Amino acid sequence: MNIDSIHNGVVIDHISAGRGMRLYELLGLGELDVSVAIIKNVVSKKMGKKDIIKIDADLPVDFDLIGYVDPGATVNIIRDGKLVEKLDIDMPERLVGVIKCKNPRCITSTEQELEHVFKLTDRKNKVYRCVYCETKAP
Ligand code: ZN
Repeated sequence: MNIDSIHNGVVIDHISAGRGMRLYELLGLGELDVSVAIIKNVVSKKMGKKDIIKIDADLPVDFDLIGYVDPGATVNIIRDGKLVEKLDIDMPERLVGVIKCKNPRCITSTEQELEHVFKLTDRKNKVYRCVYCETKAP
């Protein structure tokens, strides 16, 4: 695909350099049958360097997940080759079913049907903790 001209899709811009790959993995983009481009270390006036992810498909993206990985990112929605929406992302207060608690003694590891919930406990340092056992999110 031509990475400059997405017809219908999503462009995640202003990702802190180096976080693009993590976001790609957490969003599960590798498992989807769509064209995705990760552009790393793009020179940016504002940020020095940044990563960009371009998804050539009109699919719903998980804003909470993006906000968790990189609250400074912006999401551009492209339709018919035009930018129709530009969204600023913020850190979500709660992450439900996005990341999993890694504590083997956490109730979520024995109660499989329990939803994994993390709460933002420290906005400044971007710390999320499991609501059940208070383990820090990775
Ligand atoms: Zn836990």
